[in-house]
Amino acid sequence: MSDSERLKIIIIGAGIAGLAAATALRAEHQVLVLESSRLKQEVGAAIHLGPNASKIAIERWGMDLTRLNSPEVAWYTEYTQQGEPQIKAQIDTRRDFGAPWLLNHRVDLHQELRRLATDAEGPGAPATVRTGARVLSVDGDEGTVTLGDGEILKADVLVGADGIHSIARTAVLGYDLVAKRSGHSAYRMLIPREKVIEDPELSFLVDGTSLGITTFVSHDRRVVAYPCRGSTRPELLNIVAIVPDRALEAGSTESWSAEGSVAELVASFSSFAPKLRPSCGLWQLRDQDPLHSWTRGRLIIIGDASHAMLPHQGQGGGQSVEDAEALGALLSGLTRAQSSRIPQRLQLVESVRIERASKIQGYSREKALGAKDGNTFTLNAGEFSAYNYSYFGALDWARKLGIEVDGLEGGGKEQVAGRDGDEKEPSEAPVRQALASLVAASG
Ligand SMILES: Cc1cc2nc3c(=O)[nH]c(=O)nc-3n(C[C@H](O)[C@H](O)[C@H](O)COP(=O)(O)OP(=O)(O)OC[C@H]3O[C@@H](n4cnc5c(N)ncnc54)[C@H](O)[C@@H]3O)c2cc1C
Repeated sequence: MSDSERLKIIIIGAGIAGLAAATALRAEHQVLVLESSRLKQEVGAAIHLGPNASKIAIERWGMDLTRLNSPEVAWYTEYTQQGEPQIKAQIDTRRDFGAPWLLNHRVDLHQELRRLATDAEGPGAPATVRTGARVLSVDGDEGTVTLGDGEILKADVLVGADGIHSIARTAVLGYDLVAKRSGHSAYRMLIPREKVIEDPELSFLVDGTSLGITTFVSHDRRVVAYPCRGSTRPELLNIVAIVPDRALEAGSTESWSAEGSVAELVASFSSFAPKLRPSCGLWQLRDQDPLHSWTRGRLIIIGDASHAMLPHQGQGGGQSVEDAEALGALLSGLTRAQSSRIPQRLQLVESVRIERASKIQGYSREKALGAKDGNTFTLNAGEFSAYNYSYFGALDWARKLGIEVDGLEGGGKEQVAGRDGDEKEPSEAPVRQALASLVAASG
């Protein structure tokens, strides 16, 4: 395809969703990513990517696991608040779901996605990332964005990947939507390996022989710990401590992220055994109801802009990766001469994605806040993990939903491996059990 035939695509936001979308779209289209920050502030802490997302990133986009250098989950261990072991189970998602479950430093994941999006060696043309470019308004019908300095840019497709405070979402919905307080906040911290190793009771958390996710749970608060940065000898231990807002002296900050108070954090865990009390950033956890639409004209929203969710399933980033893959698959083959078909193709992306993302969003809420009337899922936690992880790309999912994918029906090349007609039976019993517990404790 010549340059003049390629669709012009503007992506608003260079977070996980925006960079993943740029990676998925660069093979066939011209991609410009507009990012308001200078990208030096990418938030620390870690993010785990389940096999549904890692499969796409590795098989479809060529994510380099050596560069990423992330440990894989080999164990899931759960303790009570008194430090009594409840569950210790070996995990092998490569065997059960065909891809690793990766424990990433956020900066490392971000850098690898940026490399995939912009590297000269990749497929098609490298995406351009313009930093310091804040988008002030978006017009989905016209296909234009207006920047802070008044510049107006026009494209065939606009992708709003601008996170939970999205202005692209306002352009889709026609009104501002503010995500609701969930009543919980999360402290997040990274502790150097040396510090953890010094403590004989906690050193196993970064010990290369038993890497994985460890949780300490009570009825309304939990600590989730896992190593990152260093596939066999991790440099850091990531800790997320989720507490009810009322456990904090002054309630959680309105600005949604702030410097966390160690004193408040430690006080919140005073009922835990001494060795488990943590000694930091603070995030107020916000929640959003499923949206009725993700598209308007030439604009589609993805990632947290379209389905911000509580972190209890560890799927917000994973769903962003799935959105990105769907965009790549379902805009495939479109040229500028067929530009009039873009709104319909974006609606197709929405149709294929919205039910699944909303379900995972709702389940994350239920796991965090408990079931409410009208919000009760019939799958148990183990089954839901299988639902999360048994995903083989948008075309496969469209077939499952019975959605006709006009002109792309034969698109086997768009699929990720692991599905050849027969449903792959996921996880064996111990893994199911561990996963069932994990989904209730993730972060
Ligand atoms: C405590 C916690 C733990 C989590 N753990 C996990 C986990 O383990 N696994 C998982 O999959 N998910 C996890 N998540 C969720 C995950 O972090 C998010 O779903 C994911 O980062 C969303 O990515 P995004 O690109 O949609 O949004 P963001 O990361 O918010 O990126 C949006 C980008 O858009 C830019 N931007 C915003 N507005 C504009 C504008 N007007 N113009 C230009 N640029 C703009 C921003 O600067 C930013 O770079 C967790 C979340 C929390 C809070």
